[in-house]
Amino acid sequence: MRVLICGGGAIGASIAYFLSRRGVEAIVIERTGLACAASGKSGGFLALDWCDRTPLEPLAQHSFALHARLAQEVGSDWNYRRLTTYGGSMNLRQHGNVHGVVWVSAGVSVNQRLGSTETTAQVHPAKFTVAMMRAAQAHGAELHLGQVTGVVCLGPRVAGVEVNGETIEGDAVVIAMGPWSILAARWLPLPAVFGLKGHSLVFETGTKVPAEALFLQVRDPTGTVQSPELFPRSDGTTYVCAISSESPLPIDPAAVSPDAGAIERLERMCSAMSPVLASAKILARQACYRPVTRDGMPLIGRIPGVEGAYVATGHSVWGILNAPATGEAIAELIADGAAHTVDLRRFDPGRFPALDAGRRRKG
Ligand SMILES: Cc1cc2nc3c(=O)[nH]c(=O)nc-3n(C[C@H](O)[C@H](O)[C@H](O)COP(=O)(O)OP(=O)(O)OC[C@H]3O[C@@H](n4cnc5c(N)ncnc54)[C@H](O)[C@@H]3O)c2cc1C
Repeated sequence: MRVLICGGGAIGASIAYFLSRRGVEAIVIERTGLACAASGKSGGFLALDWCDRTPLEPLAQHSFALHARLAQEVGSDWNYRRLTTYGGSMNLRQHGNVHGVVWVSAGVSVNQRLGSTETTAQVHPAKFTVAMMRAAQAHGAELHLGQVTGVVCLGPRVAGVEVNGETIEGDAVVIAMGPWSILAARWLPLPAVFGLKGHSLVFETGTKVPAEALFLQVRDPTGTVQSPELFPRSDGTTYVCAISSESPLPIDPAAVSPDAGAIERLERMCSAMSPVLASAKILARQACYRPVTRDGMPLIGRIPGVEGAYVATGHSVWGILNAPATGEAIAELIADGAAHTVDLRRFDPGRFPALDAGRRRKG
């Protein structure tokens, strides 16, 4: 069986890894570059129990454990490590840095411990995605650079995908194009997927910042409360994201760029939050879109009505955390006919009506 995976983000690479480990032929088709989008520009923060009491709980718990296993098993360094995680605020009338976090400014109150090294961890998401794809390739998977422009069907089942005007034949197709999965709703009966933009900076902080993640509430000069997330990494960098926006998703992933003024606001916020960040060199100023669905839950499973068609997207703020368990479950679904490590019913793409069915092209 040959499986065509559209999209080379964390989700596509994880699906390729678990399929290839089972000896199933997997081809990832990526338009721009592995991890070029959110999977390369996200925080890479992982939490065991932050999705508890939501439908994501079993997926997230299993995926948190899989991350630890993969970091051992795959034998490639993607900066996996456990962290202590704190919460606090700046200029919001809370006082007291009770946890002894020393790399923040005097105006920052760190007053909650949100996670321990038992419950919170991190990866470098771009390195994770690329290493998972390389590991898949070591087990026989292929990476094909090209833009998927359609899905080819023979009667009720998929027969391949169109890439740059040519057909690549396959027995199954997985749509894993993050927010660009919306484009696949023209080819297959898929519900809506949206993109929500976030901005981030990567600082060169060397050894000045310990393994302490911070989630802060900060009132910026416009009076808006922002929720910056700060993740020091074991490669001597510190990642900070904040400032979401609803700017429209460009069709071309390579065309994603920060909103006017957003990076400057984020830089000012970082300088105010930490003297270490204020004096550190900035290595990256970037923006990316997380894929979201109408109910906030991912779409993971068979696309109703088309044999051999699957989707795995809409992971919102937990796409890096949930990539391994999603990849494993999709591999089981395709190879065994059912996922047994995670119950996918809550993520069934058929829970929503398909979008725009009238405009769908025939394969
Ligand atoms: C600012 C920010 C911070 C985040 N922090 C975290 C975090 O700390 N922890 C966490 O778990 N999650 C986090 N997330 C969420 C996470 O990054 C995403 O959920 C995840 O990366 C989505 O992965 P994906 O593979 O579905 O999509 P993407 O990474 O968007 O990948 C989709 C791929 O499809 C490709 N593509 C698009 N169109 C086509 C086409 N026509 N043909 C072929 N390929 C195509 C794109 O080029 C892209 O490479 C964050 C997100 C944002 C925005």
